[in-house]
Amino acid sequence: MIDLHSHTNESDGTFTPLELVELAVESGVEALAISDHDTFAGYDQALHEAQARGLDLICGIELSTRDPGKARAVHLLAYFLRQPPPAEFRAWLGELIEGRRDRNRRLIASLREQGVEIELAEVERLGRTLTGRPHFARILMDKGYAANYEDAFRRYLGETAPTFVERYAPDVPVAIGRVLEAGGLPVLAHPIRLGLRDLDTEAKFIGELKDAGLRGIEVFHSDHRPTDMLRYAGIARKYKLLVTGGSDFHGDIKPQISLGTGYHGNLNIPMTVLNDLRAGS
Ligand code: AMP
Ligand code: FE
Ligand code: FE
Ligand code: ZN
Repeated sequence: MIDLHSHTNESDGTFTPLELVELAVESGVEALAISDHDTFAGYDQALHEAQARGLDLICGIELSTRDPGKARAVHLLAYFLRQPPPAEFRAWLGELIEGRRDRNRRLIASLREQGVEIELAEVERLGRTLTGRPHFARILMDKGYAANYEDAFRRYLGETAPTFVERYAPDVPVAIGRVLEAGGLPVLAHPIRLGLRDLDTEAKFIGELKDAGLRGIEVFHSDHRPTDMLRYAGIARKYKLLVTGGSDFHGDIKPQISLGTGYHGNLNIPMTVLNDLRAGS
C-alpha cells in the first residue's frame, strides 16, 4: 500500500513530519509522498527519518492554481521523482507564500471590520510560514465565533462569506510550466473537487490541461467514490495521463481520513502505481 498525497504541520496538517513518518511505518504504508501546500519544509525534515525507517519518501507539493477562464480553483500536485526541485522553483514558491501573507493581512482587516477580534500574530503562531484559512478557522472556533470548522468557512472564510478575501494564485498553465521546467511531474489533484457535474465538460477540461502539459491525474482519493475512480481511470487512458492516488491525510482536522486507507477504507493503492509513475517520469 502506498499514499501519494499527505500534509504535515508545515502546511495545514496537524502531524509533524517525523510523526507522519512514524504513522506511515505503523500503518504499513510502503511509499509516502509528502505534498504540503506551497512548501517542501515537511519533506525536507522527514527525509532522514524516512530513510532510517525504510520508508520510500517521495518529494511532492500541492499548488493552489486557478483556471484562467473561470477563476475556478484548481489544485495541482507535483512530484519530483528524479531530481530534487531546483532553487528557482523554491524561489517561486517564496512568491506564492508572500501572496498568502498579503491575503492573510487583508483577511484580518476584513474580519475586524465585521467586529471579529482577531490578530494576525495569533493566527501566525498556529500556522507559521504557511498560515492559511484552516488556521483562521481554528482560532474562530476557539474564540466562539464559529461552532465548527465548516461553520467558520460558511460564516467567514469561504468564497460565499461576506468577509471572504481572495488570494493570488497562478493560472494552471503557468504552474504546470513551472513544474515541468523544474523537472517535476504535474498531476491534477482530486478532480472531483472541480465540481464539474457535467461529465463531458469535466473530460474536456482535463483534456485542455493535458494540452497545457499535465502529465497525470489523481484517480484514487478519499473524496472519490468507486464510480468516480472508474471514470477518472478512463479519462487517464483516454488522454494518456499517468495515474496517481493518495488519502490527502491532514491529521486531526480531518479525522475521518486515515493515512494510506483514506475515507472508511476506500483506498488501497498498490506499489505498481508508483512504479508506473517512475517509469513514466
Ligand atoms: P488557503 O490556502 O489558506 O486559502 O486555505 C485553503 C484550505 O482551506 C483548503 O486546502 C481547504 O483545506 C480549506 N477550505 C477551503 N474552502 C473550504 C470550505 N468551504 N470548507 C472547508 N474547508 C475549506
Ligand atoms: Fe489542505
Ligand atoms: Fe487539495
Ligand atoms: Zn491536499
